[in-house]
Amino acid sequence: MIIEQNIPLANKNWFMTGGAARYWCEPQTEQEFVEALDYARNRNLDIFVLGAGANILISDDGFDGLVIRPSLTAISFDLSAGLVTAGAGVHIQQLIDACLDHHVIGLEEFSGIPGTVGGSVFINIHYFQFLLSQFLHHARVINRATGHVQEVDAAWFEFGYDHSKLFERQHYVIDATFKVTLVDALKAAYARGRRDEIVRHRRQRYPNSNTCGSFFRNFLPEELPFEVNGKKMPFIAYYLDKIGIKGALRVGNAVVSHQHANMLVTQPGAISQEVIELARTMQRLVREQFGIVPHVECQLVGFKEDPFLGN
Ligand SMILES: Cc1cc2nc3c(=O)[nH]c(=O)nc-3n(C[C@H](O)[C@H](O)[C@H](O)COP(=O)(O)OP(=O)(O)OC[C@H]3O[C@@H](n4cnc5c(N)ncnc54)[C@H](O)[C@@H]3O)c2cc1C
Repeated sequence: MIIEQNIPLANKNWFMTGGAARYWCEPQTEQEFVEALDYARNRNLDIFVLGAGANILISDDGFDGLVIRPSLTAISFDLSAGLVTAGAGVHIQQLIDACLDHHVIGLEEFSGIPGTVGGSVFINIHYFQFLLSQFLHHARVINRATGHVQEVDAAWFEFGYDHSKLFERQHYVIDATFKVTLVDALKAAYARGRRDEIVRHRRQRYPNSNTCGSFFRNFLPEELPFEVNGKKMPFIAYYLDKIGIKGALRVGNAVVSHQHANMLVTQPGAISQEVIELARTMQRLVREQFGIVPHVECQLVGFKEDPFLGN
């Protein structure tokens, strides 16, 4: 496996910003993943495992360590058991499309969400009432310190809203196996229609490039010291809509999307620092008006200090 140096990361993440990786590799097998971890350990390098870059903001100074982008892209079915297994580098949409080609349904609820299997298990992607953890049967993870690969069940991940055990960054996904349902041709055609409808709906509602999706996560009920109309209001978009920033607030070439107040969008020439200053301004405005500070969902890469308020 080739380890490259000084590889730009701006073209490898959805914000299209950020500096370079000091070291870079794309393991294609489990053994190469082990070798990549060995390489970093032997040189005392920090590690970042990259998926499609759809939920990260990379420092303009880049990442002073080894970026590993798993290129494990196999998909296999065990139809009698109702299971599909996909490598960490498989894009979620590729997996959905492969399932539907095999008359296998379930995962199409996540249609149109950018990202790989690894990144999606990491954060437990969600869309309306569906969480990826509801479908995960088991996975194989590699231990950062030892390179040991183990099979773990869904409970091991301690999944929550926007959370999994992978946040400890001691393990990385090699592949994941999901529970799915084999159906007849008519039901498969219906599921394909549902996929297309979800994608169409998402394209109308959300920006589809130069963003990380939702920048802030929703609040947990216990984080809210007050009620709105007699109940807790966890949705961050509610507060961001109220401060009137949609399509209006801008720092340099970073703007709040006109389609969604929780989506920051970069324009040509943008740098990550502009995204940070825009997001900090949003945090300040929400704090001034409501006394609560939005929590960042987007994962930060290469920053020496957390640049945000209250996280
Ligand atoms: C336009 C847009 C719309 C979106 N809509 C939604 C939505 O509806 N619902 C939703 O939940 N999310 C949404 N997102 C967020 C994003 O799609 C998910 O977070 C996705 O799972 C990111 O996957 P990725 O491969 O790009 O991960 P990356 O952004 O590359 O990485 C994210 C995190 O995952 C970790 N990671 C990546 N691979 C592995 C691995 N193999 N093992 C362990 N950790 C790993 C990284 O280290 C990093 O901490 C949206 C994003 C965009 C840009």
